[in-house]
Amino acid sequence: MMNVALVGPTCAGKTTCASRLCELFQLRHLSTGQVLRENRIQQTALGILTRKYVERGQLVPNVIVNAMIEEAVRKLPPEQGLLLDGFPSTLYQARFLDELFHATGRRLDAVLWLQIPEAVVFERAARREPPRPDDRPEILHHRLRVFHRTTGPVLDFYRKAKRLVYLDATGSIEAVSGAVAAVLEQIKAGSFQAALADHQNRFLDDLLTEPVPGKITVSQPSLDLIVMGAPGSGKGTHASFLASQFAIPHIATGNLFRENLGEGTLLGKIARAYIDRGELVPDDVTESMIRERLSRADAKDGFVLDGFPRTLPQCKALDEIMAQLNRKIDSVIFLVVPDEEIVNRIAGRWLCPLCQSPYHLEYHPPKKPNTCDRDGSPLYRRDDDTPETVRARLKIFRGQTLPVIEYYRQANLLFEVPGSGEVAQVDGLLLAVMKKIKRQ
Ligand SMILES: [Zn+2]
Repeated sequence: MMNVALVGPTCAGKTTCASRLCELFQLRHLSTGQVLRENRIQQTALGILTRKYVERGQLVPNVIVNAMIEEAVRKLPPEQGLLLDGFPSTLYQARFLDELFHATGRRLDAVLWLQIPEAVVFERAARREPPRPDDRPEILHHRLRVFHRTTGPVLDFYRKAKRLVYLDATGSIEAVSGAVAAVLEQIKAGSFQAALADHQNRFLDDLLTEPVPGKITVSQPSLDLIVMGAPGSGKGTHASFLASQFAIPHIATGNLFRENLGEGTLLGKIARAYIDRGELVPDDVTESMIRERLSRADAKDGFVLDGFPRTLPQCKALDEIMAQLNRKIDSVIFLVVPDEEIVNRIAGRWLCPLCQSPYHLEYHPPKKPNTCDRDGSPLYRRDDDTPETVRARLKIFRGQTLPVIEYYRQANLLFEVPGSGEVAQVDGLLLAVMKKIKRQ
């Protein structure tokens, strides 16, 4: 029995290679895309939860993808060998996989890294039939950078564990499958030893070196803020309040995603292609939407960003976007609300289907019952606003977002603001914090 994983950028031939080798070595093929599709088709709880994230234009949290992989692995007898493809794609997933395998009496024997030069990716993408809208060179270029940013640490993790194999995947699919098969034969024979050659180590070291963002030269007159908080913390309401106070746009990623889909922008079309194929919208598409939005004229004096970044790689992406705009994030406001209060709040929450304004029967009632103050739409309740789903979402939030909060704390940008109680009272606290921020 052996367990291996294939890692590589788009067009590296992972899927073709995986299906050939699974047959040859009687391995079960397990990919993120496949478990996601199965869960959505079978309408499992995880599948329904995923659909909600995708529809709101949010990255499906690692914990959900992990739970799906765990379920799929536990269903198989331990003697059935596995070939993973597209998983793990983050360091968090790599650590999770080790724990899961340990708990199920498995061992990940090797991680095969199919490396191809960028030029070959472009060449292969251009020949792909049928052509995909996301294979356009400018999108691909960005996709590869995002891939390297998230995969570099994964590769390093397996290099340190002496399980990483570097394979040059530039040749024909026969040649690449042959090279992978040779490694699998060694594992089977018990003679496998992973070691990278010097130039392969150097290549990975380069991948791990982060580009130094350009120096910020102008003293910045803009006010660039992030508002963070758990679901139900009132993040949207308070972000929108701050935006109107300082006459800067409130940029909520959910709205941005819907806007791009609705208007059929290039990025919207790309996102749509993924959704229609039942796949996750990749991070680089969301990042590109943010980049485009922050570059618009109305955001030149500042913005209040809400819903991004949600993960550490997204933090780094935002740093990069800001550096390109010759700006930097001024402050990150984290609304802290106890879990039980959040559960109570969400039970009384109503939303506008048109502008997404949130209301609350007790804390923030609409002027006319059941009617949006801004556009008169009848309000609705979300079907996942039950105490159990709220607790599950809070757990996911912590797993996914606390590292982001820590990142901004380390950078001395974080302001924690108690978000309990009445909206007006919290707004007052926010204004007091803003005085401090503006003075800095
Ligand atoms: Zn409305």
